[in-house]
Amino acid sequence: MNYSIVIPVFNEEGNIEILTKEIVSVFEQISDDYEIIFIDDGSKDGSFAVIKGLKSQYPMVRCISFEKNSGQSAALEAGFRKSRGEIIITMDADLQNDPKDIPLLLSEIDHYDLVVGWRASRKDPLSKKITSKLGNFFRNIFLGEKIHDTGCSLKAFKRESVERLKLFRGMHRFFPALVTMEGYKVSEVKVNHRPRFSGKTKYGFFDRFSTATFDLFAVMWMKKRVVPYKIKEEI
Ligand code: UDP
Ligand code: MG
Repeated sequence: MNYSIVIPVFNEEGNIEILTKEIVSVFEQISDDYEIIFIDDGSKDGSFAVIKGLKSQYPMVRCISFEKNSGQSAALEAGFRKSRGEIIITMDADLQNDPKDIPLLLSEIDHYDLVVGWRASRKDPLSKKITSKLGNFFRNIFLGEKIHDTGCSLKAFKRESVERLKLFRGMHRFFPALVTMEGYKVSEVKVNHRPRFSGKTKYGFFDRFSTATFDLFAVMWMKKRVVPYKIKEEI
């Protein structure tokens, strides 16, 4: 299979149908060899029922449903493991990412292992934009990176680049570093950003800043201790 679109879902019943239609319409121009995998991360609303309904209409839709809410990193890891595409595209379920940007990400993926979206003009509250800017600034300093926006969920990965990753809670905020430390190449492209269509954000100030700052030290340790081995021969 060529492409898997992996989408974590936690209480997003009002967004999923529109998002599916948008993705299907974009892929009419790209390929018919793709799957859309929703990971229902213990939603308490009708998200799973909506996905079930969509599945009967759109055969490319698949869904994994968690026993209970386990977090965005866990959802992405499960999506990676279950996916079959050579290229894996991740995005949020809330319509903030625009599927129309997928061709742009794919135009870079031949030359890189991970292409990261950069929300150059974010449609979020000011408080969120400030914490995100500060977070990206410190992360770049402490990890020696030059990535503008690791928090943008719209990304394209070559399958190989995620195969060794173990996504502990919060690690979805550090994909460029995690992939680079395994020896893979990362690039970024400017993408569109839209206001959340329906439902609420799942993260408050504490998650966005304090938890992410704490996690930064874990990633610094990982970067020091990683052994990016390459297999020379196999008989
Ligand atoms: N999400 C999830 N599990 C969680 C929290 C979030 O699957 O515990 C999903 C959520 O439904 C959305 C994406 O992760 O598709 C990003 O969440 P959100 O839009 O709330 O984050 P923000 O854009 O506000 O940073
Ligand atoms: Mg969002």
